[in-house]
Amino acid sequence: MSVLSNIDLITRTLDDLSVGVGIFHIPDLDNARDIRYVFMNKVLLYEMRKSRDEVFGKKIIEVAPEAYEHEGGLMVIDTYRKVASEGGVVNLGLVEYSNLEVAGTYECTIHQLEKHYVYVQLRNVTRLEKAKLELEEKYELEKRNKALEEFVHLTSHDLQEPLNSILGFSNLLKKELDTAEPNVQKSLELISGSAQRMKNYIIELQELSRLGRTSKKEYISVEKLIKNVKVDLDDLLKNQQAKVSYVGKDVNIFGYKSELHKLFQNLISNAVKFTEDGVKPVVLIDLEEDAENFIFSISDNGIGIEEKHFETIFKVFQRLHLKKHYPGTGMGLAYCQKIISLHNGKIWLNSKRGVGSTFYCSIPKTSSN
Ligand code: ADP
Repeated sequence: MSVLSNIDLITRTLDDLSVGVGIFHIPDLDNARDIRYVFMNKVLLYEMRKSRDEVFGKKIIEVAPEAYEHEGGLMVIDTYRKVASEGGVVNLGLVEYSNLEVAGTYECTIHQLEKHYVYVQLRNVTRLEKAKLELEEKYELEKRNKALEEFVHLTSHDLQEPLNSILGFSNLLKKELDTAEPNVQKSLELISGSAQRMKNYIIELQELSRLGRTSKKEYISVEKLIKNVKVDLDDLLKNQQAKVSYVGKDVNIFGYKSELHKLFQNLISNAVKFTEDGVKPVVLIDLEEDAENFIFSISDNGIGIEEKHFETIFKVFQRLHLKKHYPGTGMGLAYCQKIISLHNGKIWLNSKRGVGSTFYCSIPKTSSN
């Protein structure tokens, strides 16, 4: 015979479950404000960040008044009342819960035990839902990249052929019409200039779709990588009298070397390029890390970007400025996004017009050290 009472045995069993279980008493079936906690297992107490003494026998309104202050909470509590009165089981599906200490997504079912009593099962699915969302986003991005690759592959050959003809014939005409009117010469130059630009765009698109295809991943020291990028950007940095510093610690990323070089090159050159006239660019590159990711930040004192453009600037050929003010093709950030997605990371930004921008890139540590 056990030395524990039956109640203790049941409590132990419920405490050992991996789902949250709570029992509620609804004394007045027409009024949800009097509902009391009868029992909460360990998981549920943990989710609420409460002790047994703080909860048992108390009214919900005393322990968690915030539950009555938003639509989601009110809906759940009213369902307790309804099930206590009408019986049966109600599956609420996913419920968002948040108070000062806890925020998350829970799967919630409510069962009638007997009239005036319900028991509730709660499973914290926050991490699962987050992982699901990330997977969906990744799938979406992969789908978009694949569609882009196919499009580029199909169109680039077909487009290049007539462009080469335009270029060839306009050069021929320029030579033939050597003595023609300056207006005609100018028009021919415009035609060949536009055709050349279009050819460059196509080449850029082809390069974008090829990223990561030919190279192999390797260990790369971030400090060295940034040093090399600065050497490549030497002319630009000197011309703009820019100061670019890496203030994070050196870590090794397991990634595609020339792609990561291109990533930092684009982000640093943008940070230097998009400044007001007369302002010397100051660019700070830093590193933070959480358990799973390296998170790089590239901050500048440039012209900044309005929030409404935060997503569009990552699209191919999207620019916010005229070429004569700031040169570029609008491909840089599309490259960055593709490179980061090749590394299963994320890229985003914070920015304020007239103050500056910070671009963030997270790269998972998996296979990195
Ligand atoms: P490009 O630099 O060739 O214009 P990007 O794809 O690199 O193309 O950038 C897209 C647009 O995003 C830029 O034209 C610019 O308007 C904006 N942008 C990018 N980086 C910055 C920055 N650091 N500060 C301000 N604007 C920026």
